[in-house]
Amino acid sequence: MAQRVVIIGGGVTGLSIAYHLARAGERDVVVLEREQIASGATGKSAGGIRLQFSEAVNIQLAQRSVPVFERFPEEFGAECDFRQYGYLILAATEDEEALFRQNVQLQRSLGVPVEILSPEEAGRMVPGLRTDDLRLATFCPKDGYADPYSVAMAFAAAARRLGVRILEGHAVTGIEVRDGRVVGVQTAQGPFAVDVVVDAAGAWAAEIGRMAGLSLPIEPYRRQVFVTEPFTELPERLPMVIDFYPHFYFRREGPGILFGMTDLAEPPSFNTNMDWTFLEKVVEQALRRVPPLARASVRRGWAGLYDTTPDSNPILGRVPGLEGFVVAAGFSGHGFMLSPAVGECLAELIVTGESKAVDLTPLSINRFLSGALRQEANII
Ligand SMILES: Cc1cc2nc3c(=O)[nH]c(=O)nc-3n(C[C@H](O)[C@H](O)[C@H](O)COP(=O)(O)OP(=O)(O)OC[C@H]3O[C@@H](n4cnc5c(N)ncnc54)[C@H](O)[C@@H]3O)c2cc1C
Repeated sequence: MAQRVVIIGGGVTGLSIAYHLARAGERDVVVLEREQIASGATGKSAGGIRLQFSEAVNIQLAQRSVPVFERFPEEFGAECDFRQYGYLILAATEDEEALFRQNVQLQRSLGVPVEILSPEEAGRMVPGLRTDDLRLATFCPKDGYADPYSVAMAFAAAARRLGVRILEGHAVTGIEVRDGRVVGVQTAQGPFAVDVVVDAAGAWAAEIGRMAGLSLPIEPYRRQVFVTEPFTELPERLPMVIDFYPHFYFRREGPGILFGMTDLAEPPSFNTNMDWTFLEKVVEQALRRVPPLARASVRRGWAGLYDTTPDSNPILGRVPGLEGFVVAAGFSGHGFMLSPAVGECLAELIVTGESKAVDLTPLSINRFLSGALRQEANII
């Protein structure tokens, strides 16, 4: 049955869902974006793509997403600059070693070609990496990184070709609920009648939920990224390297090096100003792990927002007691890499009532009611 679907949020999640809905035959799909498409976390993302998760459902979503990035130009007629150079994740403590061995067992049981490397092997992969304090590293050659802005634009173009309307400068200001179901969405430009509303508003998803009388456990956290001037002392073909314990990561960004770190002490907020005093702490960590970076100079930086849940897993699917409301948010820092599968699965759920591609039950909002939370451990 044809439905009127309004997707709130024109980031990579909302645009992927729109594209997949149109591909599945939905003819009345509108994306409402308050600013411009990809102006939220999508345009600020580090673009990492990996199969190395600790939760099976995230691995399964990544396994359906990676092939889309691999064949991106064929499906979308556009480049996404996928550099499949792998992710190298470093374990320095006994606890990390135990966790990584457990993760690798799960990942391999699901068919992920992940390897355990000795510190020496990790050092050979990234000359300049300090490895004397490491216990092991894991490496998956299917992982890598791509350009989130290009991916979002390609989803948008493909969705438009299939008849989706993408309305920029349309902020949703209210949601109308009648007899336990959503019936309308308000914007300054006027109302939209709906059968289904998808909350794909990223860090603002809880605000959208509140408009419908819901309390979604999603909080915004600032994350900062820095890029150096051209730097030739590290190889051209560099994996994404994750120093797990300090939450520090780096990869190549053109001729320079992109790096970032999570400030675990920072409280939730919508602040996206750069805090240049934080750079000092990040540089300290960077030099501890990659001493040659002492000769690099930082050229620029930016900040964006993670949409974080208490167990670092996204919330995907319908909300019991509110018919027609679908959540696709709470990605906790991995929404870009999962966006192809999330679009596919949620479109299937909306059109057929069920996601068969990947069973989304573990990501249902019901988990917060039952208290059956399983933490995703591989979060940066
Ligand atoms: C610094 C940084 C690095 C990251 N690195 C990675 C990475 O390496 N790999 C990875 O997979 N992920 C990464 N992420 C996370 C990833 O970027 C996000 O999970 C992903 O972009 C989420 O996309 P989205 O479409 O769900 O949200 P967004 O891109 O945030 O889109 C939500 C949209 O909703 C709009 N909106 C909000 N309120 C309203 C309203 N009332 N009405 C209409 N529109 C509204 C916003 O304007 C926004 O455009 C990173 C994020 C940051 C900030």
